[in-house]
Amino acid sequence: MSKPGADVAIVGAGILGLAHAWLAAKAGKSVVVFERSPRAAGASVRNFGMIWPIGQPAGAMLALALRSRELWLQILGEAKLPYRETGSLHVAYRADEAAVVQEFAERGAGLGYACKWLKPCEVLELSHAVEPQGLAGGLWSSTELTVDPRQVIQVLPAFLAERYNVQFQFGCAVGSIEHPALSTGAGQWNADTIIVCSGEDFTTLYSEHYAASGLTRCKLQMLRTAPQPDGWRLGPSLAAGLTLRFYPAFQVCETLPALSRRIAEETPEYDRWGIHALVSQTADGALTLGDSHEYGLAVDIFNKEEIDDLVLGYTRQFLRAPDLRVAERWHGVYAKHPEKPLVVMKPQPGVRIVASPGGSGMTLAFAVAEQSMRDLGVADA
Ligand SMILES: Cc1cc2nc3c(=O)[nH]c(=O)nc-3n(C[C@H](O)[C@H](O)[C@H](O)COP(=O)(O)OP(=O)(O)OC[C@H]3O[C@@H](n4cnc5c(N)ncnc54)[C@H](O)[C@@H]3O)c2cc1C
Repeated sequence: MSKPGADVAIVGAGILGLAHAWLAAKAGKSVVVFERSPRAAGASVRNFGMIWPIGQPAGAMLALALRSRELWLQILGEAKLPYRETGSLHVAYRADEAAVVQEFAERGAGLGYACKWLKPCEVLELSHAVEPQGLAGGLWSSTELTVDPRQVIQVLPAFLAERYNVQFQFGCAVGSIEHPALSTGAGQWNADTIIVCSGEDFTTLYSEHYAASGLTRCKLQMLRTAPQPDGWRLGPSLAAGLTLRFYPAFQVCETLPALSRRIAEETPEYDRWGIHALVSQTADGALTLGDSHEYGLAVDIFNKEEIDDLVLGYTRQFLRAPDLRVAERWHGVYAKHPEKPLVVMKPQPGVRIVASPGGSGMTLAFAVAEQSMRDLGVADA
């Protein structure tokens, strides 16, 4: 009996796998996706749902993020998935934070960012969720979108199956690949093109390539409140001073080293656990809060109460919301390269491993998938 087959086989039904599946199917290819879990449970359902171009460095990465945003809008529209064009606000309370935000606002437009400096009264006009006490101003950026990751990762497979005939094999791990054959929990399959989007699993497939790649893992602790009462809306997603030292976009600022130094001296615990604070809101009105960054191949299975306390304590300094009681706690892990924003490996002709968009995988997934499609000759656009 001949093996079942498809033009394109994808390993992993996280956001990168789904983005590749969509673009391959749109290009007219038959597509099968293998996901080892009954439903995807990796980084793509554990994040803030922030499509966050403002975090990307100017140039190629910002362009990639903005292209990915366009593709997000297309697929969200096609799948009739809710999203919000929230934009984002980085709020400043200290003089050194305001200096970075103002400098970035001045240089940002020239670098391709749609952002501007807002005075305190303008910030408060835009967001009733920002603490007014001591507010020095903020950076408004209009390009950020918010999706609900749990909803997106659950709904997209059904949409892709129905609209594009993409086959999904859930609860089905791919144990090995010898192009064009894949050995899976559902027997042997064949595919002309095989794309591995297996997130932070570095051992099941092509372990020697992962070992040589320099990839490591990053663990992030996250918190979520219950839905806010009376339909209260967050408005723009929020970030604050700690975030300015985290995203590479802000590294163009000459005022940044002084801010980073002050934080390191005053509050070394934030650096110790890689903490910065972001706030987004999910479709049901809950607030997602985080996060921390602990790097290393061995991931501690236990969460640290100290980290949750630090994130919550810091967030309370700038966020005013009706109910900040924590309803859920979890952690997520992503693949991360110390220097490269993305790692693409070619272990065999016809096979690509697409790994390590780090903390920007939701933002970049669709444009990264578009690049792979072009590179593999699966689609022109
Ligand atoms: C807490 C947290 C917050 C974040 N916030 C944001 C954010 O707001 N914005 C943003 O842009 N990015 C964010 N990120 C980063 C983003 O979530 C990730 O970069 C992205 O989800 C990675 O997607 P992925 O598809 O590569 O991996 P994953 O979502 O981890 O998916 C990989 C999938 O492959 C499956 N798999 C692995 N091996 C096999 C196998 N052999 N056979 C079959 N299936 C297999 C796994 O089960 C898994 O479902 C965040 C990440 C975390 C952890």
